[in-house]
Amino acid sequence: MAVGVIVVAGGRGSRLGGPVPKQLLDLGGRSILQRSVAAFDRHPGIAHVVVVLPDELVASGVELVGPTTRPVAIVAGGARRQDSVARGFDAVPPECDVVLVHDAARPFVGADVIDRVIEATLASGVAVPAVRSRDTVKRVDAGRTVGETLPRDRIWLAQTPQGFRRDRLEEAVVRGQRDAEATDEAMLAEQAGRRVVVVQGDDRNVKITTEDDLRAARAALTPPALRVGTGYDLHTLIDGRPLVLAGVELAADRGPQGHSDGDVVCHALIDAMLGAAGAGDIGRHFPDTDPAWKDAPGLDLLSRTAAIVAERGWHVASLDVTVVLERPRLYPHADAIRDRLARALSLEPDAVNIKGKTNEGVDAVGRGDAIAAHAVAVLVRGEAG
Ligand code: MG
Repeated sequence: MAVGVIVVAGGRGSRLGGPVPKQLLDLGGRSILQRSVAAFDRHPGIAHVVVVLPDELVASGVELVGPTTRPVAIVAGGARRQDSVARGFDAVPPECDVVLVHDAARPFVGADVIDRVIEATLASGVAVPAVRSRDTVKRVDAGRTVGETLPRDRIWLAQTPQGFRRDRLEEAVVRGQRDAEATDEAMLAEQAGRRVVVVQGDDRNVKITTEDDLRAARAALTPPALRVGTGYDLHTLIDGRPLVLAGVELAADRGPQGHSDGDVVCHALIDAMLGAAGAGDIGRHFPDTDPAWKDAPGLDLLSRTAAIVAERGWHVASLDVTVVLERPRLYPHADAIRDRLARALSLEPDAVNIKGKTNEGVDAVGRGDAIAAHAVAVLVRGEAG
């Protein structure tokens, strides 16, 4: 069994405006066409790739398709889509018993959709991927009045690649070359009375048709802006003070000395968040010379820090803290501390991680005279999700 694909990029028209056909527009460093071809070129189930281009682009076709891992046949398209598919079909080697037809304007097609289409084509002869309509669909008559509301549970939106057993596509191509008019090849198979099976498509497998589609596609490829910051804090421990970390009190003989509550977890995180946002440090925002911050709970300062970074356009994606403490053991309290932090910052618990270490008896922390924490914060540009 061999599978061939015809990637149809025959259109000259550009609803996107400008002289460049839409399939050649840039999408994150490669053209829409190159991304569509690459999806099949790298798929292990595809044996042959045929690309249909407008006449005048065939001469520069190899360059336009770009580097591929296998030879790609390039042929000139026709006036209508069905004419382009017919020319492409002529170039599909006879050993291909399954032929897929794909719109070059769908560059995000995934291997899973391709797999499902091939499988259903082998079983049924013709298969199309489709997704359910999220919107209610109206049939609109002349004068822009609603003729009918179609039952939404039966409305599916067809995508590509559409899959055909070779004889089925041949039949559709012949129909298309006679008098039939169709917007896709599955429609020609339907008109021939063939059973066309629907497999699950993918919402990401969009067709790029308008300027808005192109903008959305480019945005989907742009990774969110990220910033990373680190923080560190240490407090000496003295007898008779409570040891509170992110609002969780640990049973201990000694607690931190300090102007504030000495919560090294929150203080290290605050510096990490401020660092990532390029917003200075804890001393600049909550100076220990200001009586307002005397004994201020660490969690309260942490929430205020989230507001400071939000004003600068950032929100927390993840936090990681290592607490260095000789005794008591941090481990039994780690989940409670994590949950308090996550709640204070409206994060999922798995976006926050707390680790405990001892200092192996070495130096002030190891002697139990101090507690320290190291933190890393990752911030993402934009509103919290
Ligand atoms: Mg501190």
